[in-house]
Amino acid sequence: MIIFKEPTDIHEFLIAKKKAQVLTGFVPTMGALHEGHIGLITRAKNESQLVICSIFVNPTQFNDPADFKKYPNTIEKDILLLEKAGCDILFLPSVEAIYPIENKTSRMYELGFLATVLEGKFRPGHFQGVCQVVHRLLNIVIPGKLYLGQKDFQQCMVIAKLVELINCDTQIIICPTQRETDGLAMSSRNLRLNEAERKMAPLIYKTLQFIKNHFKTVDFRHLKENAQLELNKSGFKVDYIEIAEAENFNIPDKYIENKKLVVLCAAFLNEVRLIDNIILNDAN
Ligand code: AMP
Repeated sequence: MIIFKEPTDIHEFLIAKKKAQVLTGFVPTMGALHEGHIGLITRAKNESQLVICSIFVNPTQFNDPADFKKYPNTIEKDILLLEKAGCDILFLPSVEAIYPIENKTSRMYELGFLATVLEGKFRPGHFQGVCQVVHRLLNIVIPGKLYLGQKDFQQCMVIAKLVELINCDTQIIICPTQRETDGLAMSSRNLRLNEAERKMAPLIYKTLQFIKNHFKTVDFRHLKENAQLELNKSGFKVDYIEIAEAENFNIPDKYIENKKLVVLCAAFLNEVRLIDNIILNDAN
């Protein structure tokens, strides 16, 4: 695996590959890699000729500075995992390389309702930061395909919007959420859970599953209120638990046939904020 740190170096390398019509697959991450990330690398490996992973903990997407400071860093282990997965290139830029002082002006992205609901509401400015970094990474890596995880459902919608706004011809591929055997969605933040919190954490997925088993027969408001109550009683502090139309985030109050629905949750276990979602009306 080749490791690049300088944007201009990797860009020149990848421009040459693009000219030679090499199919590239790109997996942007913030590191502390786990099987969820590796699933994206493997999918990219199967569908492209050259796989690029980036590890960059993007300061501009953290609305809470303490969360940024405590973000796990396991870079040596990450490099081993990537090599084992057959990743070809790792892009490991510094903050200064991505945000040079001479290029301080930051564009505002017109994200509409996506910026103000659910994650957007509870993490103000978060998606502007996501767009800022993904825009820069796309300009540097110019990938054919961009691999994202369904775990960050709203982020996938935001990045799809970004790609449209900047007229980018990269194709977005969304990969299913990888879970631990007890159902907990894999996440770098799980490393920050203590033993008791780790035991409690799968309750989010169990709650989503409960909603999936009952959404056709029980009123949505009742389902959501009960779910929030149960999670809060068990020690979570729920930011939101919401049932939305997967295509446009409209919030229906009852089951509508032929509309793809997703249930999304964000909740704190003490200091650690966890998010998860599942599609309600699919076979899984
Ligand atoms: P992160 O390092 O958390 O920014 O995640 C980098 C990419 O990996 C994003 O596209 C995430 O949605 C994806 N990802 C994170 N966790 C999982 C998971 N458990 N399953 C699938 N994809 C994931």
